[in-house]
Amino acid sequence: MPTDIQAPTGKKACVAVLATGGTIAGQAETGTQAGYASGRITVDAMIGSVPGLSDLADIQGEQIANVGSQDMTFALMIALADRINALLGDGAVEGVVVTHGTDTMEETAYFLNLTVKSRKPVVLTGAMRPSTAVSADGPLNLYNAVAVAADPRAAERGVLVVMNDRIHGAHSLTKNNTTSVETFLSPINGLIGTVIYGKTQYFRGPFRRHTHTSEFSVAGVDRLPRVDILYACAGMPADLIDCSVSRGARGIVVAGDGNGNMNAGAIAAASRAAGQGTVVVRSSRVQTGTVIRNVEIDDDSRRFIVSDELNPAKARILLMLALQQDRSLEELQEMFYTY
Ligand code: ASP
Repeated sequence: MPTDIQAPTGKKACVAVLATGGTIAGQAETGTQAGYASGRITVDAMIGSVPGLSDLADIQGEQIANVGSQDMTFALMIALADRINALLGDGAVEGVVVTHGTDTMEETAYFLNLTVKSRKPVVLTGAMRPSTAVSADGPLNLYNAVAVAADPRAAERGVLVVMNDRIHGAHSLTKNNTTSVETFLSPINGLIGTVIYGKTQYFRGPFRRHTHTSEFSVAGVDRLPRVDILYACAGMPADLIDCSVSRGARGIVVAGDGNGNMNAGAIAAASRAAGQGTVVVRSSRVQTGTVIRNVEIDDDSRRFIVSDELNPAKARILLMLALQQDRSLEELQEMFYTY
């Protein structure tokens, strides 16, 4: 067992629940309406609404923010990483749960996966139905997330997301349905495990580098380089790429069609951008599969990078962190195979 993880003592673990908002903290006037407002109820109300939570762990709640995750910012993600690093660096806290909106949960999970420096469990959870809904999914998600965060067997698996009885790894998961409670999938590499009414089962660990083995840090950082995502489609206007470069983007992630493709005009504009020092990463708008170098596009001569398994939103996060330092294109490409 790693040295900063405590051996099971029979005592309850101490788990910090950091709330950021989202539908799990959302409210509506009735239990059956589609419309609601995200980020309305407090962390204490959320914790208080889950029967049996205090049997799993000693819980300490903290309100970090109360926003819909469509309003998540990098300033907030950095503050969250700093707070988690401080809490887990203190021997008393054995695990952290972050409650978060589902819209950008995969981005925050992946950001924390690269910037939290601990082997201890860090688990994000949320809900697809607001707290006031008939059959709200938030309370059981929070119960299961605390069970995973309190479980020493969840340690060293990177940042996890617990939703709808599934345990996903931050590298793999993606939101797949706009409204269903079964919205998250890990389509390329599969689930880390399951958690049913607090009983955990693990199938595997993540294969990529994360948390305590990640070289990235946001300690003392207050802003990250601009990286834009451009969505490829039939007839994509190439001047979007020129526009990003002229607005100061240090990197561009293309959500390419198929295997990270884009039309001839966009390839020419992206090549020009890469030649001038903007880092161009080819990712894909397709939900599953990897983007492979030099298939229909000659990445070597164009000076492009491929995102491998990362979707555009996560490729952007990796590139923003990587561009904090000068690195060669070869080093950057290797990072997409490593993280
Ligand atoms: N828009 C909400 C959010 O991301 C959706 C949710 O939490 O499910 O905050």
